Amino acid sequence: MSAQATQQDADLTVVIGLEVHVQLETETKIFCGCSTDADDAEPNTNTCPVCLGLPGALPVLNEGAVEAAVKVGKALDSEIPEETRFHRKNYFYPDLPKNFQITQYDEPICQGGELEVTVEGDRRAIGIERAHLEEDPGSLQHVGGSIDTADYTLVNYNRAGVPLLEIVTRPDFRSPGEVRAFLAKMEEVLEYLGVFDSTRDGSLRVDANISLIEADERDGNGELSDEALAAANRTEVKNISSHKGAEKALAYEVTRQRNAIQRGRGVEQETRHWDESKGITVSMRSKEEEKDYRYFEEADLPPLQVADWKERIDIPELPAARRERFREEYGLGEEAASKLTSTKQVADFYEHVAEAFDPDLAATWVADNLLGELNYRDMAITDVADRLDEFTRLVELVDEDEITVKNAEEIVLREMLDEGEDPETVVEREGLEKTGGDAVADAVADAIDENPDAVEDYHDGQDDALNFLVGQVMAATGGSADPGTVNQLLREQLAD
Ligand SMILES: [Zn+2]
Repeated sequence: MSAQATQQDADLTVVIGLEVHVQLETETKIFCGCSTDADDAEPNTNTCPVCLGLPGALPVLNEGAVEAAVKVGKALDSEIPEETRFHRKNYFYPDLPKNFQITQYDEPICQGGELEVTVEGDRRAIGIERAHLEEDPGSLQHVGGSIDTADYTLVNYNRAGVPLLEIVTRPDFRSPGEVRAFLAKMEEVLEYLGVFDSTRDGSLRVDANISLIEADERDGNGELSDEALAAANRTEVKNISSHKGAEKALAYEVTRQRNAIQRGRGVEQETRHWDESKGITVSMRSKEEEKDYRYFEEADLPPLQVADWKERIDIPELPAARRERFREEYGLGEEAASKLTSTKQVADFYEHVAEAFDPDLAATWVADNLLGELNYRDMAITDVADRLDEFTRLVELVDEDEITVKNAEEIVLREMLDEGEDPETVVEREGLEKTGGDAVADAVADAIDENPDAVEDYHDGQDDALNFLVGQVMAATGGSADPGTVNQLLREQLAD
């Protein structure tokens, strides 16, 4: 990594690595047949002897979770080994009824890899150490206070056994902004792969390791040695559940550690909890070390041969490849191609419109108009997913010259978003149907007859006079004439 790509504050380099826990989108849990859909489920109803950890219950691996992990591995350029194994990670906590979590230890399903992100125009490759499959624990609800002050705590095992993929990065991040960009990109890739639902609560959770390293630990190329990285005291920040949260939590932690170092106190190696509502990190129980977990092989699950899975599982076109294809196939510029591939849904919708109409018209309508207006309202394409046919009809009305571009952009689209109406309803209510041939020609003739002074000014070479006449015609037709057509008709008639 180059020196200028690092964030250096005088003499300290920020070093961040992530553990990203992703809930894989499968119908059933990873080791039993219980549903993963807990939206409308009463607490503890999506459960069985396996995910409740009852004695004698045996886990059966869900193929769907393995397939999803292999897809992620292929997308991240990871190596998928011939064989992968499961281990027991032993610890006691009320959300874990077996007192151990089934996870993967030294033979994870994805090994190595990278994901490229663009931060302020710079491309950065973030190294992936590994990604392994494991089961999600249940969830705890502290009633009447926080973890330390609650009157009592409820536990819900509906989440216990939902498949998780824990993606561990190299300590390659040099600023909280890079972390945010990486998480956004990761979500984009996971959604393209169809293995992840970002709208599901808690579907992406992040723990971050962060340390600040003295500049004199860098070698001549500005690189940090593995020894310097290992020697630095770092904190692990837990409980981060969004991109924005990650950036804020890490920015807070950078400042806190920098102050500690500058005041000569140094940084303690510890686990800290991100308190989203207060915007601070607080010290937690000291973290177990790896040896405390007493990892040993999960004897109830045989080693899994995954070599041939890699060959038979295909992954769809990923954002970067699709962006490139949009540029070639539809002749789009870099910016439009980027915007239009920002999510799979946007890209699919663009292609749908581009095939029915002109690719340029489709790009303007989807990238500029629709996404622009959605963004202004703090909405996303997912908020209008069931109304995409209506937006296609709006483009059709413009394409077929039924309404003016200006009215389509400034009235119909906005009313559709604000009032939830379909385009025809807005056009009819607002009387926007374009005034056709004869009526416009009549209005042009009237404007010329009624404004001899302006006509004379026009012949004297004053361009403003033509604008005035266009305005008269637009007013007479209630704004429903096409300004370009009016302009052309006026020029033709005034030339006679
Ligand atoms: Zn179950």
